[in-house]
Amino acid sequence: MVINSIKRTICVVPIGRVAEIVPKAIAANILGYLHIDTDIAPSLEYPQYAFDESRIQYNAGAILRAFESMPFHNYEKVIGILDLDLFIPIFSYVFGEARQAGKYALVSLYRLQKNLDGSTPSMSLLLERAAKVALHELGHLFNLVHCEDERCLMHFSEGLRDLDNAPFYFCRYCSIYFRDALSIDRTKDQNTRLEKDS
Ligand SMILES: [Zn+2]
Ligand SMILES: [Zn+2]
Repeated sequence: MVINSIKRTICVVPIGRVAEIVPKAIAANILGYLHIDTDIAPSLEYPQYAFDESRIQYNAGAILRAFESMPFHNYEKVIGILDLDLFIPIFSYVFGEARQAGKYALVSLYRLQKNLDGSTPSMSLLLERAAKVALHELGHLFNLVHCEDERCLMHFSEGLRDLDNAPFYFCRYCSIYFRDALSIDRTKDQNTRLEKDS
């Protein structure tokens, strides 16, 4: 008898024009790192409605609200990927945004594709940055809060320097919290391993 037939799947959704490799890389990292299945949905339309003329940026809250009106019934969590400059009122820009313990999150590539010295990062560095932001926002969706440990993906990144310095793993405390959050609806969870190997 199957006690738990709920299949946990996360949907990765490009919004507007996004290079195809980016959602693929994010989906691969979610699967490889968290052992959660992912699907990549067809692109949503460019979110003109979220453009703020005075800031020449896109309102992350408005995009999340639009997102929340779409059910995505078969998915536990949904991550939108876009290539637009996002803001929330208290910050001049954000790399990503998520509702704490919610279903929907956003990851923006806009600020990730230029290094602090103005140079262009390699594709592998860009994809690493995007995956770090996606895993961090996914942490929020599973109700993880910011962590004081600088050697943890849940540490708050104030800018690109912090993001690049952040490791590609969660600290022990956050790993345990994440594993517990993931196991709530699961009977089998032996394969979930979040900690850094060593
Ligand atoms: Zn955060
Ligand atoms: Zn942590």
